[in-house]
Amino acid sequence: MSFADFHGNAGVVHRLREMLARHHLPQAVILAGPSGSGKYTLALMLTKAMTCLSPSTTDGLPDFCGTCSNCVRIAQSKDLEARFAEAVEAREALREADRKETRLFVQTHPDVLIIPPDPPQMMIKVDQVRRVIESIYFRPGEAKERVYIFTGSAFMKEAANSLLKVLEEPPEFATIFLLTENPGELLPTIRSRSMIVSLAALPDEQVEKYLAKHRPDWNAKQRALVARLSEGAVGRARSFDLASYTAARTQALTILNSALRAADHSELFKVTETYRAGAEGRDKTENLLRTLYSLLQDLTFLNSGTPELVRNTDIQAELKKLAESADFAWIALAADRLAEVERGMRRNLLRSLSLDAFATALERG
Ligand SMILES: [Zn+2]
Repeated sequence: MSFADFHGNAGVVHRLREMLARHHLPQAVILAGPSGSGKYTLALMLTKAMTCLSPSTTDGLPDFCGTCSNCVRIAQSKDLEARFAEAVEAREALREADRKETRLFVQTHPDVLIIPPDPPQMMIKVDQVRRVIESIYFRPGEAKERVYIFTGSAFMKEAANSLLKVLEEPPEFATIFLLTENPGELLPTIRSRSMIVSLAALPDEQVEKYLAKHRPDWNAKQRALVARLSEGAVGRARSFDLASYTAARTQALTILNSALRAADHSELFKVTETYRAGAEGRDKTENLLRTLYSLLQDLTFLNSGTPELVRNTDIQAELKKLAESADFAWIALAADRLAEVERGMRRNLLRSLSLDAFATALERG
């Protein structure tokens, strides 16, 4: 592993490494970018480069070895989802009184603390920032730097204010990374004390190239589809659940076909019957609704003469046929009705019932 393994945004990575080389990396760095764009991966790589015990250079810029004890321990935090789940589980196992006072952290190296949003609210809480304050002013033990990585930017008010105090006078040996999909979520006073670095979405071709290497189980057509659906985020592309997307899409197409063309609704009812109440049914229905929206959007692209924007590229022929019977007014109506189904779901109406109502309401007279 080295910076060469980071995919995309080469200019941004280059600039950050130049700052590292000149010891000019600011002490608070906001890494902004869509989900799956590599914010966490990059933060960990920079952390390794700052703490590596046998630092190397590649292309004349600082890199990390990946094998020293610091690099190895930091790499254990790489699977954030798994480490987070372990932390949640450990907390669940505590006695109730202790559980309430225990905040979530991921820590696989004594000088590197990772602070995820704390469930169930999924926000950074003041006790988490307190833990940062308790340690940040002590010199690091095994690395040259102390590093803190906040993996989300939704802060409780008191937590944001506490963080602000740290940012006013951080010790020279500490670096704080704030990862966010939307920097506007952070207090302006936090933003003004940090350097904001944005990771841009990658062009489809770049994501496809990445997938050719990392998902050889997909064919070219599938890779092209996933690249478009992940909107330039390689992390999202790599872990994309193509099987369940394709299943949801087949059903979404049945619903649209039934609404637009079929007189007989037996196929439609077969589909909607499979949507049940409960948590599992909710996920499945949400998946279906998202897919329906993306198909409606593609129909709009086809009708407005911009077929190059269509995301479901592998079924373009089928979409074209559908687009012939769906005009703008119908698509707008369908989007409105979908929003109604979503509202109904929030009120826990029977899922299959509202889906049936959705499709039959859209029937062309
Ligand atoms: Zn190392």
